[in-house]
Amino acid sequence: MKVITRLAELRVVRQDLPGPFGLVPTMGFLHEGHLSLVRRARAECASVGVSIFVNPIQFGPREDLATYPRDLERDLSLLRPEGVDVVWAPPVEEVYPEGFQTYVTVEEVSRPLEGARRPGHFRGVATVVAKLFNIFQPQRAYFGQKDAQQVVVIRRMTRDLNFPVDIAVCPTVREPDGLAMSSRNTYLDAEERKAATVIYRSLLAAQRAFAEGEQRAEVLREIMVHVLAEEPRARPEYVSVADPETLVELSGFVDRALLSLAVRLGKTVLIDNVIVGEGSPDPGG
Ligand code: AMP
Repeated sequence: MKVITRLAELRVVRQDLPGPFGLVPTMGFLHEGHLSLVRRARAECASVGVSIFVNPIQFGPREDLATYPRDLERDLSLLRPEGVDVVWAPPVEEVYPEGFQTYVTVEEVSRPLEGARRPGHFRGVATVVAKLFNIFQPQRAYFGQKDAQQVVVIRRMTRDLNFPVDIAVCPTVREPDGLAMSSRNTYLDAEERKAATVIYRSLLAAQRAFAEGEQRAEVLREIMVHVLAEEPRARPEYVSVADPETLVELSGFVDRALLSLAVRLGKTVLIDNVIVGEGSPDPGG
């Protein structure tokens, strides 16, 4: 496994790696969710690259860029047994040299949900992913369903800008009690960690209601809100029943929907989602 910081060196190493090349973009502090992406890439591709980069431009001024957990040595020791060919862990100046001023904006699907809560977030995500696609020239790139809107934004960008990259989406990996794995879970104290289980419980309650025939978007939303209200430490930032492709908020009867939410626990905001209805989870994978 080659570990590289400089872009020029990465380009040289990449040239000698056979295709199809699978890219797994991450911000590090890896957990089983990230490793599930790496394992799928390893199973499907001749070569696998992982980027580890806490992308400053996707963080808002009052967000956790400075405190975002980082441990490169630990990340590398988790990646070594997975048969990764190359890891790129660049310093910020290597990705955004002085004078940088070109950004990718995906318009409509970036606006609701996380986009409304975190202005500029998806501009930062789309920009860094476009750069990673240009740098690595992957045939496939792997993302987690955990960040459902990110998947929609990246798919849109990939089509709109004609990147010759297959976007693969991997299921959300959860802790035994259902909490979606996230590097940000490390921010939670013991009480918040216990309270955080309400997030998946609320999604499951709505998913169960849908399976039992409840198709009204308003009622599904209400069910999630109601379960969240059982946990006073959990403060919902949004609770959404939206079209899985356009992310437009739904009303009335729905055949298929993305149920998603953001919940504040102390200083930490956690997100999670499930897709209900025909063809879920996304068979396009
Ligand atoms: P991050 O390091 O948080 O930017 O995540 C890197 C990639 O891993 C993204 O595509 C995430 O959606 C994915 N990911 C993060 N957590 C999980 C999880 N619990 N299950 C599956 N994929 C995940």
